[in-house]
Amino acid sequence: MNNLERSWMYERLDGRGAINSSFIDGVDKFIQYACSQMNRMSGDKVRCPCKKCHNFRYIEVEIVKHHLYKYGFVDNYFLWKHQGEKEVINEISSGQDIHGSAQPELGYDNPYRQIVLDAYGPNFLQGSSWQSFNNIEPESSHPCEPSMDEDPNPESQKLYDLLQAADAKLYLGSSVSQLVVVSRMLNIKMENNMSQRGYDQMMQLLKKALPEDNIVLDSYYQTKKLVHSLGLPVEKIDCCELGCMLYWGDDEHLTSCTFCGHDRYKCRIGSRKRKLIPYKKMYYFPLIPRLQRLYASHATAADMRWHHEHTKEDDVMRHPSDSEA
Ligand SMILES: [Zn+2]
Ligand SMILES: [Zn+2]
Repeated sequence: MNNLERSWMYERLDGRGAINSSFIDGVDKFIQYACSQMNRMSGDKVRCPCKKCHNFRYIEVEIVKHHLYKYGFVDNYFLWKHQGEKEVINEISSGQDIHGSAQPELGYDNPYRQIVLDAYGPNFLQGSSWQSFNNIEPESSHPCEPSMDEDPNPESQKLYDLLQAADAKLYLGSSVSQLVVVSRMLNIKMENNMSQRGYDQMMQLLKKALPEDNIVLDSYYQTKKLVHSLGLPVEKIDCCELGCMLYWGDDEHLTSCTFCGHDRYKCRIGSRKRKLIPYKKMYYFPLIPRLQRLYASHATAADMRWHHEHTKEDDVMRHPSDSEA
């Protein structure tokens, strides 16, 4: 299947703002194909490749149709890989992979995609931006309306960026995605106590060494910006250098310790505009988001529910929780 045969995907509206009949026929073909790939479906739902869903959610086919009429396909989605279509490698790619065709397929079975979805999961789905998907009212949004070109809100945009990084190959023919490289490199940086400067230099070299069309992020700053929303919140709280108190709650604005009188901030000579530097501070990792993440992540959710889901059987001991103690 080449891109030309699917040009209808991006010719949704005709000059008068009505939906082209070729688009409607094409969408029918798409739905037919998606429904023929049972192993890529969830019950009778399929992944919606519309501009808003980004193949993120499984939705009933009628609503998928509706989304496609209304928003159009996500950009450059000529290969329906999330619906099970496989890439024919020798067709377009001039680069060719020299290691044979045993490349792991990115996208559907991509664990990094799962990481992104886990990080956004429960909190994000409660957000208003997703609610509209669940209660679509056909009468209020007729399929022939040509508008709806608004941008996603900033939070959704971050999610889309991350999903894109999880899917985007590092360069044409590469077997790893941008997010794989970013997360591995951050891990290497941390394990080896690498400086930010060292990281930048290494990534700049990597970017130069790879084919020109690569999408390596060559600075720590950009990398942090991309993965920031995968992280968990942390609070910095100043404290007395001698450990008597925290500058927190009612004491948040004090500038010296109420017990020993020690100053909170270091005395700095010179420019007054500089940020105040406390003698000592601590990092507080709020518990609730961490618990939420443990329940949300596919890697840990089953363990978190274990006690709830496993009922005790008399006379059988399979776990310390079954014993007297
Ligand atoms: Zn959709
Ligand atoms: Zn003190």
